[in-house]
Amino acid sequence: MKLSSVVAGLSAAVVAFQGVAYAAQGEASLLRPPGAQGEKDFSARCVKCGKCIEACPYLALFPAPGDQGFATGTPMVDARSQACRLCEDFPCVDACPTGALRDVEQRLDVRMGTAVIDEDLCIAFQGMRCEVCYRTCPLIDQAITIDYRMREGDAIHSVFAPVIDKERCAGCGLCVERCVVDEPNVAIRIETHAERARGGA
Ligand code: SF4
Ligand code: SF4
Ligand code: SF4
Repeated sequence: MKLSSVVAGLSAAVVAFQGVAYAAQGEASLLRPPGAQGEKDFSARCVKCGKCIEACPYLALFPAPGDQGFATGTPMVDARSQACRLCEDFPCVDACPTGALRDVEQRLDVRMGTAVIDEDLCIAFQGMRCEVCYRTCPLIDQAITIDYRMREGDAIHSVFAPVIDKERCAGCGLCVERCVVDEPNVAIRIETHAERARGGA
């Protein structure tokens, strides 16, 4: 038997084993790199080689910490500390040898998750002009727009409210990284694939 056939067979066995192991443990809610096709598919294919992490020029990817069970060591993003920049050429996707990251030709193909705004915390909804998330979005006027309207019961002042398009938001997290509202009360967060599948966190 050729060496390449043995390697391919072993890889398939690893993928199958990981699929069973992850399924037994439940899906992680981690923010994955561009090209991940849902948590189940991703966790079954990722072999924790770290090549996407090495390829990211912005150091946006890092291995999941030791408290993540079988997901420990898989690549993830912490949007608040260093978001994905949605590189035009997606070096992380190119570097992935197993197809765990795949099928990304352009930014609008990316589905890392969806930005969700907490209207009680976002200062724009309280009547202040901010627009930081809007201005920083790589998909400005596609994934996020500004809804200009008069304040309720106020004929003079306007509200400049950010609105997320759930079908177009890539979930890169740049809006989360730059949001002016301080921890622990972040006004915008990314709902991941796993959270969305479970009907929201
Ligand atoms: S798209 Fe660019 S910034 Fe985002 S994870 Fe991939 S390499 Fe890093
Ligand atoms: S996560 Fe935020 S910055 Fe990224 S595409 Fe969505 S709205 Fe834009
Ligand atoms: S950056 Fe934060 S506070 Fe400002 S408009 Fe966006 S979500 Fe609201």
